[in-house]
Amino acid sequence: MPASLRLDPAVQRAISQAAASLAGETETLLARLVRHRSLLGHEQSCLADMETVYAELGLQPRRVVIDPATLAAHPGFSPPLIDYAGRDPVVAVHRPARGGGRSLMLQGHVDVVPEGATDLWITPPFEPSIRDGRMYGRGAADMKAGIAAKVMAFKALTLAGLQPAGVVQMAAVVEEECTGNGALAVMQALDKPDACLIPEPGPGYPALYVAEVGVVWAWVTVTGRPVHVRDMRSGVNAIEAATVIAAAFKGYEEAMNAGERRHPAFAADNHPINVNFGTIEGGEWNSSVPTRARIGMRVGVMPGHSCREVARDIERLVAGAAADPRLRGTTVKTEFKGFMADGCVFPPEQAISRLVEACHTAETGGELRHYAAAGLTDARHYALYQGTEATCYGPDSDSIHGIDESVGLASLHDVTRVLALTIAEWCGVEPA
Ligand SMILES: [Zn+2]
Repeated sequence: MPASLRLDPAVQRAISQAAASLAGETETLLARLVRHRSLLGHEQSCLADMETVYAELGLQPRRVVIDPATLAAHPGFSPPLIDYAGRDPVVAVHRPARGGGRSLMLQGHVDVVPEGATDLWITPPFEPSIRDGRMYGRGAADMKAGIAAKVMAFKALTLAGLQPAGVVQMAAVVEEECTGNGALAVMQALDKPDACLIPEPGPGYPALYVAEVGVVWAWVTVTGRPVHVRDMRSGVNAIEAATVIAAAFKGYEEAMNAGERRHPAFAADNHPINVNFGTIEGGEWNSSVPTRARIGMRVGVMPGHSCREVARDIERLVAGAAADPRLRGTTVKTEFKGFMADGCVFPPEQAISRLVEACHTAETGGELRHYAAAGLTDARHYALYQGTEATCYGPDSDSIHGIDESVGLASLHDVTRVLALTIAEWCGVEPA
């Protein structure tokens, strides 16, 4: 059941109007963020820009160092893919004058996934473009729109002559899309907040996250025996061997989605656990039997089962395939780099979730549907390892991780107003 709102209706109206008046500025900020091609390892300029954005809010941004040596023992840590030097997340903390309100973390990730085949995009992926009420661009929805919304929501309170009466933590992190270590470092560096709200994109309709799967990334390298194709039968083809290994996961994927194995939060989704072979590299020459092939995979983890258990499943399946007669003469190596993440639930009964639902209804007149995500977010760290109420709620997205990613601008503006009201209701307000 949604919470009941406490703010004086006149104050609520003032905040809502202030947020609505920032619509143009919100779109400008979103476009500015999309222009940063903040792929893994290239987040520097976007992080620097987030320092400016937070400073423009009147906050004092600082960097949080991600130190793998310190984090390695943490159960939420994932093995990194690359070095962290120069890619430190940005945090900024608002401290109230009078105080007495609850604290809130508003987090967002600046990293985006690769744009894929640029020639398939109608407009270039890092040149934001507005068509039919949507902004297109890589990261426009996932999740630079959410970042723009939370920044402008905070600004709306100031514009209404107010500020949160509780501590508000803002964070712009890296590696949400491959490890979650940016968020983990930030969580470890700051005081525990009373709730964490991440404006990750919705599924295409107004929704509140109630659960998410976990994810394991694994890399399998097959080494065969290279020969000239005229002697093909004496060689062992590493690429063909890799396809045998990939095929071994089909039955596993189906078994992991079996009804009796599905977490109750995923009752309405008959296929939450997906196995994706995302990358393949290997081979040297069309007329040479390839020496080596490396496949990169992403395997979902059902809440209630651990990522370590899934890692063992992967090792077992790969070992089974390696024993196939077609792989005789190969060596097979499995490595875990990137996500080693458990799934989790975000109970809709928790106070922050009920409040977001109430604020959404107050601002839009509509109701939020509950969404169990077959992908993961950084919210898991707060829920699993800090005992902090956490959830995600954000603007309408389309084609995230695909071609022509976009975010609905009407929805972005709705979310900005809802977040402004949520901050005010959660933290309380005091004069700016
Ligand atoms: Zn995201």
